[in-house]
Amino acid sequence: MNLVSYNRIDMEEETQKEKYITPIAIGFLTTIVPDFLSEAFSAYKKRDFTTDYWQVSNWEQWYGGAGVALAVSAIEANRNRLYYMKDMSVSQNVCRDILDMFSHLSNFPTDVLTSLIGEIFTIRDVILHSHIYEINAEFTRTDWKMIELKRTKLQEYGDKKFKDLVDTDKLKTKLLGMNVLPTNIGFEELFLVLFVFDLIVGILDKNIERVSFTYHLHQKLNNEWIHSLSELLTFYYDQIPSNSFKSRINMLVGKLTIAFGTYMEYGPPYFIKNICPKCHTIGFRKNRSVSHCSNSACNFKLGIIKMDH
Ligand SMILES: [Zn+2]
Repeated sequence: MNLVSYNRIDMEEETQKEKYITPIAIGFLTTIVPDFLSEAFSAYKKRDFTTDYWQVSNWEQWYGGAGVALAVSAIEANRNRLYYMKDMSVSQNVCRDILDMFSHLSNFPTDVLTSLIGEIFTIRDVILHSHIYEINAEFTRTDWKMIELKRTKLQEYGDKKFKDLVDTDKLKTKLLGMNVLPTNIGFEELFLVLFVFDLIVGILDKNIERVSFTYHLHQKLNNEWIHSLSELLTFYYDQIPSNSFKSRINMLVGKLTIAFGTYMEYGPPYFIKNICPKCHTIGFRKNRSVSHCSNSACNFKLGIIKMDH
């Protein structure tokens, strides 16, 4: 190798061979999806949670729906990356391939993970395959009160997975409670997709390969840099104005901790493990320097004291 100037290397005598693979959808999750979550939330928080709504605002639909489609595509990218690293070939069934990675773990709750992955892919399909429903609504002319609402999905939409995992009366998935009516998909569905993603990352980290570094976020929220999906979810969880959605998240954290707690490492890098050490309220660590319990009766704090210069 001849150094022909202070910053130029003569490449004719020596080449550097590098190899790359191309799972670009992982970048959607770390860069674009957090912005979509923020936009969906800006519309979501203006909803009136004291009354039922029959569709969410267009702003929330578009940002929430696009965020779901991109986040779920990052799951497929992750499957492809891991299969490549392990010198295995992918099949046509992403859910099956992800489950196969955990088949060696004894007593692993495969059925629960099957539902979780199946449900988020169902929502992805609803958006990307544009499921069509006919919605007939009747209102009073004087004050626009709803008299009747009928929502009918056209027969040809929805595969076997849809039929197994969706409560067709409520138009919601059975485990996560996500809306399958396209005009009702918004912030809550995107939050839950990221919640499941974070859980899968946690299980992969402990049992297959450390993948969380791949999902390193660079977001500034409340003037602090956040780095993980768990911190992103905690930021929004703390602000969720809907008591019923908050209690659904609490119920899911309890249920999924029982199912997967032992298959994940302890600690706040994962949302379901990010609980107050004293009273177990969720959302304890906010970012790298701030950890405090949101339960006013507990108020437990851990943190670095910042010096003013
Ligand atoms: Zn506490």
